[in-house]
Amino acid sequence: MVSRVIPVESFDLVIFGGTGDLARRKILPALFRRFCAGQMEDGARIIGAARSEHTTAEYRRFVAEAIAEFNAGRSCETGTLDAFLDSISFVQIDAMGDTGWSELAGLMQPDRVRAFYFSVGPSLFGPLAERLHQHGMADSDTRIVVEKPFGRDLDSARALNVTLAQHFDESQIYRIDHYLGKETVQNLMAVRFGNMLFEPLWNSQYVDHIQITVAETVGVGGRGEYYDKSGAMRDMVQNHLMQLLCLIAMEPPAKFDPDAVRDEKLKVIRALDAVRAEDIVRGQYLAEAEKPGYLEHVDDQTSRTESFIALKLGISNWRWAGTPFYLRTGKRLRARTSEIAVVFKETPHSIFEDDGGRHRNILTIRLQPNEGMDLGVTIKEPGPGGMRLIDVPLDMTFADALGPDGEDVPDAYERLIMDVVRGNQTLFMRGDEVEAAWAWTDPLIAAWEARGDRPQAYESGSSGPEDALMLMHRDGRRWREIRP
Ligand code: NAD
Repeated sequence: MVSRVIPVESFDLVIFGGTGDLARRKILPALFRRFCAGQMEDGARIIGAARSEHTTAEYRRFVAEAIAEFNAGRSCETGTLDAFLDSISFVQIDAMGDTGWSELAGLMQPDRVRAFYFSVGPSLFGPLAERLHQHGMADSDTRIVVEKPFGRDLDSARALNVTLAQHFDESQIYRIDHYLGKETVQNLMAVRFGNMLFEPLWNSQYVDHIQITVAETVGVGGRGEYYDKSGAMRDMVQNHLMQLLCLIAMEPPAKFDPDAVRDEKLKVIRALDAVRAEDIVRGQYLAEAEKPGYLEHVDDQTSRTESFIALKLGISNWRWAGTPFYLRTGKRLRARTSEIAVVFKETPHSIFEDDGGRHRNILTIRLQPNEGMDLGVTIKEPGPGGMRLIDVPLDMTFADALGPDGEDVPDAYERLIMDVVRGNQTLFMRGDEVEAAWAWTDPLIAAWEARGDRPQAYESGSSGPEDALMLMHRDGRRWREIRP
């Protein structure tokens, strides 16, 4: 199946931090793929901006190398790379000083969409907004894309919102959470609101519980000092897992429109119960063979920062009261996998004497690897000899359904950047959503800090600390296996 590509209007995209890791690994390859797909009209321009000095020719070489490394194996017509590189230029700029700003302002053309991607550290978000304003680039055609982390607590997020609001209207601010750009995550909304099948069952009467797992195999590596100030709660739960939870739990919005969707997500965050201390398990990974343990990456050998967290949450509203949500995320776990599992209640009674057991359906939404979904259904075990039942998955892997090797499934950044150009904020976080998520997160962190809780050690390559398994076992439930 070939996906339909609707060209977007011509635009200028300035990438602040254009030589950084995110630009190299994600943003530039994503733009190239959209270019290959024919989505970028002639005349679209990409301007890399960074503090270091480069000529445009040097920057184009950097872009070509990034594409070779991170777009490997994906097809594109010969000659396309050169055409793409022709659309790229570079400006040396200092977010904290005056260098480069007049030159950048001189490059801007009137009457076209202009997006500034803040792919730099959060301390530069304010100065960039201020300088865009000073140099006349913060007009109504301007959109800014702001990377995570958006603050480290409610106060800092609020302060950042206030700073950005001095020069930009909320409708111009695109707070990115790349999880929302994943095909499967949007499919979650399609499944819920495009089918009659699930929505009537999507409540505490039929859903036993919901599990969200985001497991990584990598450790904190060279980012140890940065990560140590953050931890899994701030780095993953407050944003990515919270967004997934909102999409699963929200009421149907009246339409698929940015504010309608975001209003519903906000209501979910506001309905979250306070989490009890016994419903939180935090962990820190140990060394394994040559791989160093968490504490070997950080200076503070008494660090209490968690590289793993599991939580049991409740949502106090009519739909979800009584259905627990179990969330977990961590580094150095058994496999790199992200999934949401909606575990339905067991059938109330078995009519099959040979089987005896009661069965349940599980809808699994896989974010990675192999983006897709499967629905576990119960069928008769084939063959003679009575009615024994087995559970089998109705599997839909998008790569199989949509194109060879998943080529037609756009990467999250491809979709999100094109949404910025189109002016569609549905998959971006609104300021009040981010603040509500911090308002929920802050007291949990403050409470474990006040108690002086230490994270529990867990083996690298495991499923996290034992107590995280107990979090579900004590409720008579079990986590789904973390497996590749
Ligand atoms: P990086 O350190 O690799 O790159 C930083 C970039 O900022 C460089 O291009 C540098 O030249 C530029 N820069 C630094 N100071 C500057 C200044 N004063 N003026 C102008 N430019 C300046 O960082 P990164 O990993 O690319 O991350 C960028 C942002 O994206 C951060 O906010 C990070 O938290 C976020 N982020 C990164 C990733 C990732 O995978 N790398 C993932 C999610 C979010």
